[in-house]
Amino acid sequence: MQISSKLPNVGTTIFTVMSGLAKEHNAINLSQGFPDFGCDSKLLDLAQKHMQAGFNQYAPMPGVIQLRECISKIISDCYAYIYHPDTEITVTAGATQAIYTAIAAFINSGDEVIVFEPAYDCYIPAIELHGAKAVTSQLDPLNFSINWGDVRSKVNAKTKMIIINSPHNPSGAVINADDLNELEKIVAGKNIIVLSDEVYEHMVFDGQLHQSVARNKTLAAQSVIVSSFGKTVHTTGWKIGYVAAPKELMAEFRKVHQFLVFAVNHPFQLALADFLSDAKNYSELKHFYQNKRDLFLKLTKDSKLKPLKTSGTYFQLMSYKTISEEADTDFAIRLTKEKKLATIPLSVFYTNKYDNKVLRFCFAKKDETLQQAAEVINSF
Ligand code: PMP
Ligand code: GLN
Repeated sequence: MQISSKLPNVGTTIFTVMSGLAKEHNAINLSQGFPDFGCDSKLLDLAQKHMQAGFNQYAPMPGVIQLRECISKIISDCYAYIYHPDTEITVTAGATQAIYTAIAAFINSGDEVIVFEPAYDCYIPAIELHGAKAVTSQLDPLNFSINWGDVRSKVNAKTKMIIINSPHNPSGAVINADDLNELEKIVAGKNIIVLSDEVYEHMVFDGQLHQSVARNKTLAAQSVIVSSFGKTVHTTGWKIGYVAAPKELMAEFRKVHQFLVFAVNHPFQLALADFLSDAKNYSELKHFYQNKRDLFLKLTKDSKLKPLKTSGTYFQLMSYKTISEEADTDFAIRLTKEKKLATIPLSVFYTNKYDNKVLRFCFAKKDETLQQAAEVINSF
C-alpha cells in the first residue's frame, strides 16, 4: 500500500526515545518530564471512592460540573477573571488533546500560526496537520525572552493564532506583565486567537507571579487557556487537563472536542474536584518545586555544567559548552549510555535544530534521585 504521510518529517517524540534509552541502559531518567514520586494518597482514595460509588460510565461531554466549578474558582482566585463553568470551561484528556482540539477548531488550511522556539513538541505538527503554516519566532538563546519586534514583523492577514507558553518548556523562563501588554497590543482588533499553554501555572518561583492571559481582560477575550492536572497533582498518567475560553470560542472548541474524545475519565474528574477544593493542594506546589530546583542547583554548583536561569516549570537547563563540542543529541545519548543519566537535548525543540550545547534536566524527582544525578553531573 502506498501511504502519503501527512507528517513525513516526524518520527517518535524525543520524550519516548530518551525514556526508552534510559530504561534500556538502566540510567537515571531526568529526560521526560514526570515525577518519580507518587501523588497524594488522599487523591487515590478519592478516585477509588468514586469508582466504587459507580461513576464508571460516560461523564458529561464538557466535563463533570463539580470539576468545572472548581477550575472556575481556581482561575478567579488566582487571576481575578471569571470563566462561567457551564459555557467557558471544558475538561480535556490532558493538555495535548486540548491544544490539538483548539488548533483543529480554529485553524484552516493556508492560515499562519506564530510559534516561539524552542517550542514544546506538539504545536507544530498539529498546525501542519491542518494545512496551516507555523511561523517561528526565536526566543533569546540565553534568557528565552520574547522579541516582540520580531513578532510584530511576522503578523499579517493570514495570522490566525499566536501560541504562547509560560512558564516555558523547555527553558523554565516566565513572561512578565509587559509581555502580556505587548501581546495585547499586537492582537487587539485583529482576528487572532491567543492559545496560551499554562500547564506549569502553579510552578513559578522566587516570589514572581504567573502571568496568565486571564489577568488581562482584553487579552482573555480572545484567548484559549490550556492547563493540565498532570503537572499540578503529580498524575501525568491520568491525562486530564482543561481549556478555559470565552463562550463563543468555547462553543467552537466543543464542536471538535465532542468528536475527538467526547468525554474524559469520569471518576478521576470527581476525585480532582474534591482534592482541588482545598487550595493548598495547588498553592504549595511552587514552594515544593522551588525547593527541588534549589537542591538540584546546590548539588551541582561545582560542576563544569553551567545552569541557565529557571523561573518556573520543573526543568533546569545546563550548558556543557566548556566540556565538549559534541552535538547535543550525541552528547545526550552518550551521557545516557556511558554515564547512565538521561536528559533532553535542547536542539530538538527548534525546527532548524539550533544547537547551543544545552541539555534539559527534569527535577521533578525524589531528592535521592537528584543526589544520584548530581554525582554524575559533578563527575565531568
Ligand atoms: N504543554 C507543555 C508545555 C507540556 O510540557 C506538556 C507536557 N508536559 C503538555 C503541554 C502536555 O500535557 P498533558 O500531559 O496534560 O497532555
Ligand atoms: N511534557 C513532557 C516533557 O516535556 C513530556 C510529555 C510527553 O512525553 N509527551 O518532558
